[in-house]
Amino acid sequence: MTPPPSGGHPFPSQLRAWQASLRSQFPIITAHPDLVYLDSAATAQKPQAVLDAVHSYLATSNANASRGAYPWANSTTADIERTRARVQDFLGDPAPARSQVHFVSGTSAGLRSVARDWLPGYLRNGDEIIVPFGDHEANAAPWLEAQELLARQGTHITVHDMPYQRGSHDYDVVALAALVSPRTRFVATTHVHHVYGGDMNVHRVREVVGPDVVICLDAAQSAGHLPISLADLDVDFVAFSGHKALALPGTGVIWARGRRGPAFAPSGWSGTPNTVGIISLQAALDWLDSAGVGRIEQWTTALAARLTEGLRGLDRYDVLGCQLSLAQDSDVQQRKGIVTFRHQNIDAADLGFILYSHGFMVRSDTHCQARTGEARTSVRVSTHVYNTPEEVDRLVAVLAEL
Ligand code: PLP
Repeated sequence: MTPPPSGGHPFPSQLRAWQASLRSQFPIITAHPDLVYLDSAATAQKPQAVLDAVHSYLATSNANASRGAYPWANSTTADIERTRARVQDFLGDPAPARSQVHFVSGTSAGLRSVARDWLPGYLRNGDEIIVPFGDHEANAAPWLEAQELLARQGTHITVHDMPYQRGSHDYDVVALAALVSPRTRFVATTHVHHVYGGDMNVHRVREVVGPDVVICLDAAQSAGHLPISLADLDVDFVAFSGHKALALPGTGVIWARGRRGPAFAPSGWSGTPNTVGIISLQAALDWLDSAGVGRIEQWTTALAARLTEGLRGLDRYDVLGCQLSLAQDSDVQQRKGIVTFRHQNIDAADLGFILYSHGFMVRSDTHCQARTGEARTSVRVSTHVYNTPEEVDRLVAVLAEL
């Protein structure tokens, strides 16, 4: 274990060699040793294996899927089917024969498809749904659009805001229990918060809402960052973005299990699938599994804890979200690889520019948070397996100068 310079909690140094060999597989990272990419919650960089899979497919067997009877078309169709099974396996699907995987362009499109193509057929007049207005806009707007659509058809539903705990920004399950009624039919949740970085403890939401309510999970910030086990989570829909899980942009997944309510069937003719993106997703999931998603979680959680501690050692910075999740061995270890903060006197946009002048790529705005989110801008640092404790220490050293 290597102590950080500030004397905070130790870093998992047994993962050093493992991480170094993985980092070396990201060409964009190794080509720019002077730059530090800390915006993986927006989109992740791609390992060579994903670039190779894309190149090899386009150079050797590019064709449309499910349309031709010749080998390139057949192998493209087979690749897409293989990727569906790969996704089920990656999500720890306990009953793959009873679930479906649909490819969409990202989490936003996936959640909107559930809201548009499935929810209206499931809800009845007077039903209630609970939606997290403090999460990403992608997990709020579609449910409100569904409410409007239903109202135009004469079906009136109530949309409640998912309650949060003050301070930790975890879901407040006590307040949630008070909201749940016999008319509660659907709850939208997020696995890892894209601003506060907390694991939102979705299993506790299931305990509170009971076995009959449909739960939809936004896994945009957890897929590829921590192991997902659908056997444990007991949710009905999962959406995630391939591009945040090391695959190409324009690739996303909606996983659906028709155990509660009607089967999920996206409406309309979807046309040619994003074959290259889907093939890149298969390669990305293979790469993540062989790297070990559990170790990626350990590594990025430790990076975030190191940064949080570094910031707390500087008196001019306020870290947003849970303050208890600092030590890696804490019982309350909730924060994953994302840390968001403000300087007490420097505007977040200015801080973003200053940090880039030192080579750090971070996000500084309000982070697409939905209706009840932070009103003021902040700086978000989001990590992946290619980041190092030295990068975090350099960042803290620059922040200390400001
Ligand atoms: N949900 C969360 C939690 C996110 O962080 C994001 C993107 O940052 C999204 C949804 C939307 O993802 P996409 O832009 O890939 O559709």
